[in-house]
Amino acid sequence: MSSTAEHTAVEEALRHIKPSVRALGAYTLRPYEPRIKLNQNESPYDVPAALKARILKVAAERPWNRYPPFVAHNFIGAVAEATGWPSGGILVANGSNELIQAALAVTVGPGVSVVIPEPTFTLYRLMTEVNGGEVVSVPLDGELRFDVDAVVHAAQRTDAAVVVLCSPNNPTGAALARDEIQRVHDATGALILLDQAYVEFGGYDALPLLDEHPRLVLLRTFSKAMALAGLRAGYLLAHPNLVTEINKAKLPYNINFFSEIAAAEVLRHRQLLAPQVNTIREERDRLHAALAEMPAVRVFASAANFVLLRVAEHRTVFQRLLDEHGILVRDVSGYPMLEGCLRVNAGSPEENDAFLAALHAILEPQ
Ligand SMILES: *Cc1c(COP(=O)(O)O)cnc(C)c1O
Repeated sequence: MSSTAEHTAVEEALRHIKPSVRALGAYTLRPYEPRIKLNQNESPYDVPAALKARILKVAAERPWNRYPPFVAHNFIGAVAEATGWPSGGILVANGSNELIQAALAVTVGPGVSVVIPEPTFTLYRLMTEVNGGEVVSVPLDGELRFDVDAVVHAAQRTDAAVVVLCSPNNPTGAALARDEIQRVHDATGALILLDQAYVEFGGYDALPLLDEHPRLVLLRTFSKAMALAGLRAGYLLAHPNLVTEINKAKLPYNINFFSEIAAAEVLRHRQLLAPQVNTIREERDRLHAALAEMPAVRVFASAANFVLLRVAEHRTVFQRLLDEHGILVRDVSGYPMLEGCLRVNAGSPEENDAFLAALHAILEPQ
């Protein structure tokens, strides 16, 4: 094809993409290969070797030519045991992002309002807009805490179908208290999509609220505290009648048997991961305290496994950390309200020492 003919043909094809989608930017992450990786909020610790060996053994014994079971009984059973929630109210998936997508697919369409406190995880907005819905953005307050009154008012004013809450929030680290979650649920008619990807590190765990709050939908992941980011596993808890509906937007066999086995085993043996999670929490606090001592840094309170900080010339700081020290952090300065901000997850104690020393050298050269 000549390049003009090809161009015309491609334009013909693109004509069928929804204008609202063409106007969006995709969720992306630039690839780097740093010495110290503190940019994706992953666990710095791998799954313990004995547990890994067990997972590999179970997976090796299973026939790989057969589809996984239609319902992921093993994984769902492990979630039911761990949470005490009935299996009919549990959906599992290839990462919790997939369940955010499914929950928004069955609720959002043109003319439907979704209240999203921002800045937050960008996928909520992206999925709302792909589905043609209206994002009703509610800014965090000046200290980057949730403005719960404003969230409630926005949901009431727009008769929102969904309020998305991320607690602890990514990328700020702020968490909601029990009564705040209850208030958003009780004062609105919306589904409350509560993403608790970081709750093992702090903040109120809303599991006990599920029973008496039928519009609450809880999301959990294995990508952070559970050290399985590479295998992609997550779950959703809600009233079984809601789960029946959300399930309709989930692809069949969405979770492969290997991830299913790994997630179930890790969940059943999560006490083996508890020391790691404790260390990460302590290291988060140590990072916060050390950063608070640096006059050139503003650091925000965090209940997650990362901290958000603001520095002058953040782009130079980001680049020098990478080029001179091999340390990759996340530049989140493009989010609303986060000018000059970087997000840094707690790594191992040695990695955090290296980060603090590097930042000190960059900001306060002798
Ligand atoms: C990391 C993260 C997740 C996890 O997504 P997975 O698809 O389970 O890896 C979900 N929500 C937020 C806000 C996150 O930061």
